[in-house]
Amino acid sequence: MADKEIKLEVVTPDKMVLSQTVEYVGCPGVAGEFGVLPNHIPFLSALGIGNLHYKKAGKTFYVFVAGGFAEVGPDRLTVLAEVAEKAEDIDIERARKAEDRARKRLEQQNDNVDFARARVALQRAITRMSAMNAAKSTGTA
Ligand code: ATP
Repeated sequence: MADKEIKLEVVTPDKMVLSQTVEYVGCPGVAGEFGVLPNHIPFLSALGIGNLHYKKAGKTFYVFVAGGFAEVGPDRLTVLAEVAEKAEDIDIERARKAEDRARKRLEQQNDNVDFARARVALQRAITRMSAMNAAKSTGTA
């Protein structure tokens, strides 16, 4: 691994989503996005719902993540996500249906609706679609 690269691993409880050497990572921390270049100081952050992106060989790739932790070391970033999908693996139709369901729940004036849960489901669906759109616009999905 060249010293201008970092090892990026994205892991969920069920699978290894990604293991790559990359040049830069932008990661959606709970307190906002943070960037990681080689020789970053050690750092630990909880993850929000968002799209991680990384640069490799002049291309930008996108990975949807929701919840978990990111651990940064001088030559690596390990993302232990509750849920993660590479943009190319996102089922866009499924995300559209999840968006519709969440919007319908949020429109109801009904005490049985868990609004907080519906809002988070909506955010996941919209973020998945934005990962796919961003990856299409850079030619990586
Ligand atoms: P849905 O209502 O469609 O299940 P969700 O946001 O509730 O969406 P999650 O709880 O975030 O789903 O994820 C459950 C599992 O399904 C995870 O393994 C996740 O990677 C996968 N998953 C969910 N939505 C998609 C999608 N649109 N494309 C690919 N995988 C997905």
